[in-house]
Amino acid sequence: MSTGELTGRRAVVTGGGRGIGEAVARALARAGASVVVAARTAAEIDAVVEKLSALGHQAWAIPCDVVDPDSVDELVAAAEERWGEGGADILVNNAGAAWSSPVLRTELEDWNRMLAVNATGTFLCTRAFLPGMMERGWGRVVNIASVAGLSGARYISAYAASKHAVIGFTRCVAAEVADKGVTVNAVCPGYVDTPMTDESLRRISEKTGLSEKEALELILARTPQGRLIEPAEVAHAVLSLCGAAARGINGQSIVIDGGELLC
Ligand code: NDP
Repeated sequence: MSTGELTGRRAVVTGGGRGIGEAVARALARAGASVVVAARTAAEIDAVVEKLSALGHQAWAIPCDVVDPDSVDELVAAAEERWGEGGADILVNNAGAAWSSPVLRTELEDWNRMLAVNATGTFLCTRAFLPGMMERGWGRVVNIASVAGLSGARYISAYAASKHAVIGFTRCVAAEVADKGVTVNAVCPGYVDTPMTDESLRRISEKTGLSEKEALELILARTPQGRLIEPAEVAHAVLSLCGAAARGINGQSIVIDGGELLC
């Protein structure tokens, strides 16, 4: 996509304070969109917006907890304050959290937390921003799911259930809005080099006694390309789904895992 293709478009990126969300916010801004960066930690979203503004991009930081319906309503109101009624043209539901434990050691609280942030947060934000997109007859919703939304593995039942929910939700909403000029797609990365993966390595190390380096080697041994995915690669896929030429891509799950699911 050429720089500037999204000029005039207004984008909201949840979980934009670090990791994949930060890379997505940067890519959208570089393509010309004005970007609202939302997450709970004000210092992180402020820092991202500061960097984008220094590069001459239009960006705003709006604190939001995507599991809280009132907070999501406040996000919509704050975005409309800047952009006018109708809110965003592009919504990237990226806010998320990961958790691993054997199913028999998964507490109800862990299960609920995964479903709340990954699945319910995606639902609440989509429901909040979709009406404006449908009214204008143009919109893009991109949900950051995971390969764990398409396959199972040991010890991630709560996380995988929440990401399968995101993919089911993506397909259903895509069908509902197909004739409204709006597309809804999911992007499904394998392990990405972000603070979330750093945290997972710390947890594996704590539980197994392996060093974090050994834990990383264990993960990389299962990836066909022997590497972590870069946040910018995920951002590239998101950006490609937001362009005019992607209007026929709807309800899809784009896998970015170097071929892991196939091998
Ligand atoms: P990070 O932990 O690095 O960043 C997560 C972001 O989400 C942060 O900005 C965090 O900010 C925000 N967030 C978390 N909870 C909430 C909440 N309740 N409300 C608003 N914002 C929230 O994660 P990644 O960048 O790695 O992951 C981003 C997305 O990609 C997630 O959905 C994740 O499941 C998915 N993914 C990640 C993979 C990986 O290997 N890293 C692989 C596949 C998918 P704050 O805590 O300040 O709110």
